[in-house]
Amino acid sequence: MNSVYNALADIVGEDYASAQIEELVTYSKDLGTSEPRLPDYVVVPRNTEELQQIIIFANKEKVPVVPLGGGMSLAGIAQPLRGGILIDMKRMDQIIEVNEKSRYTVVEAGTSQGKLSAYLKKHHPDLMHSMPDAPPAATVGGNIAIHGQGDLAHPHGFNSDMINGLEVILPTGEICKFGSCSVGSGWFTQHPLPDMSFFMGWGGATGIITKVSLRLFPCKKIREMDLFLVEDAELIPDVLYDLTHVGMAEDLAAFSGAIPPFSNKLHHISIFVSGDSEDEIEFKRRLMYDEKLAKYIENGTGGIVATAQDIERPKTSKSADWKKGGGFEYVGSIMPVTAYAECYRRGVEISERHDIPYTVVGRVIGSSHAMMFAWSYAFNRADPETVRHAKEALHETDDLVLGLGGTIWKPAVYGQQIVMDQMEPNTLQLMKNLKNMLDPNGIMNPGNWEVA
Ligand SMILES: Cc1cc2nc3c(=O)[nH]c(=O)nc-3n(C[C@H](O)[C@H](O)[C@H](O)COP(=O)(O)OP(=O)(O)OC[C@H]3O[C@@H](n4cnc5c(N)ncnc54)[C@H](O)[C@@H]3O)c2cc1C
Repeated sequence: MNSVYNALADIVGEDYASAQIEELVTYSKDLGTSEPRLPDYVVVPRNTEELQQIIIFANKEKVPVVPLGGGMSLAGIAQPLRGGILIDMKRMDQIIEVNEKSRYTVVEAGTSQGKLSAYLKKHHPDLMHSMPDAPPAATVGGNIAIHGQGDLAHPHGFNSDMINGLEVILPTGEICKFGSCSVGSGWFTQHPLPDMSFFMGWGGATGIITKVSLRLFPCKKIREMDLFLVEDAELIPDVLYDLTHVGMAEDLAAFSGAIPPFSNKLHHISIFVSGDSEDEIEFKRRLMYDEKLAKYIENGTGGIVATAQDIERPKTSKSADWKKGGGFEYVGSIMPVTAYAECYRRGVEISERHDIPYTVVGRVIGSSHAMMFAWSYAFNRADPETVRHAKEALHETDDLVLGLGGTIWKPAVYGQQIVMDQMEPNTLQLMKNLKNMLDPNGIMNPGNWEVA
């Protein structure tokens, strides 16, 4: 055991490697319902070179490795299910380049969303990236490794669609680049080379992302949120269809919740509108509301309850208070927008069965080819009974997602298993072949996406 620690300490220095139980315990926990899982070692590399040495060593010794970004994914997928070395990526957080005119940035994968956002605000206020609603400690690498989505999901899709290039360390230790950076011509595009990017959606099971070229977008000077309400959940897809037709919103999400009680049974659509001037905002509002939503207001089925109010954006984490004790976990899914009402109704049933106030949200992706629909379940960390209820509700929701024809986003192990059970056999076989080829010793985040 000590030989592993010594090897890690030789690579990163004693301050950044540990086998001390008090530090391992800190790293064993997930914010969600998962039981703690102790790693045997924790290591915090400074750069790609140190990380590469760690991976080469782990592969030679066949010791599992698990990359950890901000640890905010909640589903237990950054926990060391088979022990081994937990690799904390947070020191690999350099913002290497911001190319203003080509609107992209190259960052190390451990860069936090908060750091990138603050850096752009200070040094490049006309630029922004698509920021997830996750706590700011969430990392760029961890987010794309699970196909995250941020506040530019409606105009631009998944965050993992916004990549111009990647650097990755394979489980056997080789460093590979993907995109124009692989032929030395800069980090400005992932296309048109043959697609070999087998890393997004794998949650670190095929390699560790070390550098990312992320697209940036114009950051408008003014950003405001409006709220549209309907009583009938069946209308949500129609309203979203109308809004996405004009394409004037920056972010669109529908949400419904049992709390506060006065607004339960109402369905809210948050509409973010941004512009460099009041005129631009006014123009966008006119297209959305006068041209598209007026009919709902006229026939009494919908209404604008607030424009440009200083209302807080609906936050999934708010539901953590519902049971006191600060616990919540959600099942995210990628669903057709047309499924909103059914997702909502079935979510209410599951929540009521487990005595948890329901909280559901669906964020539009692209021109509404899909939405990320999430069912959030609160629990009290100090009350095992509420934890049990939340766990059961999460499993039932995983089953529901597949039953409704969706796919589970960042699934926990149970969800991964039912997805693979249902997967077309040739596709599953291809996944197996890829995993075996890339990770012949099965060291990368074992227990997750275990196809081999
Ligand atoms: C309140 C709340 C709100 C949230 N809202 C959103 C949201 O709006 N949009 C969204 O997308 N997500 C959201 N999330 C989910 C999650 O927090 C984010 O997706 C987050 O960006 C994940 O990044 P992380 O660094 O915390 O990843 P981790 O949890 O550390 O890791 C996620 C997975 O990726 C792997 N991994 C980590 N780093 C790397 C790497 N460099 N290379 C390869 N694999 C790696 C891990 O092993 C793990 O399997 C939310 C979470 C919370 C708690």
